[in-house]
Amino acid sequence: MPTVIAIDGPAASGKSSVARMLAKRLGWLYVNSGAMYRAVTWLAVSRGVPPGDAGRVLGLLDSTRMEFGAENGESTIRMDGVDPVPHLTDPQVNAGVSAVASIPEVRRILVAAQREYATGRDIVMEGRDIGSVVFPDTPYKFYVDASPEVRAARRARQGLTDAIGERDKVDSSRRTSPLVIAEDAHVVESSNLTLDGVVGEIIGRLKLAGLTPPGQI
Ligand code: C5P
Repeated sequence: MPTVIAIDGPAASGKSSVARMLAKRLGWLYVNSGAMYRAVTWLAVSRGVPPGDAGRVLGLLDSTRMEFGAENGESTIRMDGVDPVPHLTDPQVNAGVSAVASIPEVRRILVAAQREYATGRDIVMEGRDIGSVVFPDTPYKFYVDASPEVRAARRARQGLTDAIGERDKVDSSRRTSPLVIAEDAHVVESSNLTLDGVVGEIIGRLKLAGLTPPGQI
């Protein structure tokens, strides 16, 4: 059975950088589940469909070929052959993604694709519900947190327009798979840690939990 490391946390908590570096050190595949929700949102906004219009968003998905793959150790996405990645942090995508991610049928489709990634290879997957819903049975669950001030400063440094407080509110209160700290997750408070520090803490826990990672770690 492939091993899954789940990294969840609120917006701009640094979990993408953490998950990417951890996957690299392990030599495992890094999967960004947020990018999948963002890709669906980009599809909607680029076709003039309001992200909250579940019927029309699902109609778009019905008529679009979505491919989830992997290249250079990272997950990839194609929508009708187009790579949406350059558009995934557009202000309209940031503003609409939580509405799209609240549509249960969108989640059902994307969760199935996320689980596919763990057939046949070890992965590090980051998101909101990876430890609680997508892979509830994995013993390796982390919740990376940071103070609202640190998270807002992080986004500002990236030059991105992103109402992270609003996203967190919607993500935490939606009915289907809200952002929660899985009961058995280890919380890493990253406000005062460097990226190396967070990854180091996670690797320490993995070893304690009995994961024997390959040599390069
Ligand atoms: O991780 P990122 O901030 O890119 O995620 C964008 C949005 O996608 C989140 O605000 C949330 O609405 C949604 N998301 C989710 N479940 C996941 C990953 C992301 O609902 N597993």
